[in-house]
Amino acid sequence: MSQRTVIITGGGTGIGRATAEKFVEEGDRVAVVDVDGEAAREVVADLGEDVSMAVEADVSDEATTQNALDEICEHFTTPDVLVNNAGIAQKARPLNQQTVSDWQRVIDVHLRGTYIWSRLVIPLLCEQGHGEVINLSSIAGLNAFPYRTAYSPAKAAINSLTKVLAIEFAPDGISVNAVAPGYVQTEMVKNLIDNGEIDLEPLYERTPIGELATPEQIADVITFLTSDKASYITGVVLPVDGGWSAYGYV
Ligand code: NAD
Repeated sequence: MSQRTVIITGGGTGIGRATAEKFVEEGDRVAVVDVDGEAAREVVADLGEDVSMAVEADVSDEATTQNALDEICEHFTTPDVLVNNAGIAQKARPLNQQTVSDWQRVIDVHLRGTYIWSRLVIPLLCEQGHGEVINLSSIAGLNAFPYRTAYSPAKAAINSLTKVLAIEFAPDGISVNAVAPGYVQTEMVKNLIDNGEIDLEPLYERTPIGELATPEQIADVITFLTSDKASYITGVVLPVDGGWSAYGYV
């Protein structure tokens, strides 16, 4: 496969960063898009400016996204792969203790961000007659997570959007798939553990493989889904969860 241009939103840390590293290892170049410009620049400092670039942008802002995309096309080439990975956690709270603005922010970063980037990038992929989009879903989008009235629905909507776009753009040679991780060892989960929202022991018991995923394990699946080996896969929401979603006993 020749060198591809890969856009990874939220690539400054966690799963996004591991995915950027994996694509570069495989010979591609990556645009690391993150609202945290410093984090994105650190990734680029490690990966090298010949194969990576940092772009500071909030994925939920349409105008910023168009500028970011123009910058990427000018610096590298038209993108071949889009990974919609940027995300934020939602504090677990009973409904009557939540605010509409917190709810809206979670929906905006996950669902609106995925929509805006897909809307701008997919036409460019179509012009080339090939391309892959990978959306980050979650086991929270396959099952209901109590007290997470924005995070679970946002991920469920991303699953639906993934299938809608996969069907619409299959004739153009574009695949659209989602990866639905279980709990992964990233800052997002570390913060939830630190503030007592995740209890590790029951989680290990609830997960047949008995441990959390590493960001690299998720990155491996993302890169696989963009490879020639996955050329007949589109419209799939693939759990990468150590058996969590298969488990139905307790
Ligand atoms: P993380 O918090 O480690 O990293 C998320 C990155 O996204 C950060 O660099 C952050 O700055 C960036 N970001 C946040 N809001 C942004 C915005 N508006 N615009 C641009 N960038 C923004 O998170 P992670 O654990 O690596 O999660 C990555 C994705 O995987 C998310 O979509 C998350 O919902 C999903 N996911 C994570 C887990 C997990 O257990 N960690 C499980 C299932 C799904």
